[in-house]
Amino acid sequence: MSNCLFCKIIAGEIPSSKVYEDDQIFVFKDINPKAAVHLLVVPKTHIKSLDELSDEHQTLIAYMMLELADLARSQGLDDGFRTIINTGAGGGQEVAHLHIHILGGKDLPGFN
Ligand code: AMP
Ligand code: ZN
Repeated sequence: MSNCLFCKIIAGEIPSSKVYEDDQIFVFKDINPKAAVHLLVVPKTHIKSLDELSDEHQTLIAYMMLELADLARSQGLDDGFRTIINTGAGGGQEVAHLHIHILGGKDLPGFN
């Protein structure tokens, strides 16, 4: 998607603090962190949100889930972490490219 912020980050057209990259996902630090550790896990293929998933994405989504704990641990989150996926305007999604937030460490805000 030519006008997508996260596609531009993945392509290296906009700088980011990259933590990890492979053929399927790109992981970087949130520019406005809500906790000591705040990562965004993004599929390299442009998918708008959970609302746009279809059967063809099963392997990719499973892969993203399977990577989360290792990514959190790589940032020192040895005793756990929080994941958030915002979907659509009603879910507070600001960037229309599917992403999983990983949050943890000092200053993790309350959820309620
Ligand atoms: P969401 O509200 O779930 O769509 O989350 C979008 C997230 O992207 C927010 O937490 C923003 O702080 C973050 N964000 C926006 N622009 C950038 C950027 N250029 N680099 C890193 N994170 C960003
Ligand atoms: Zn995109």
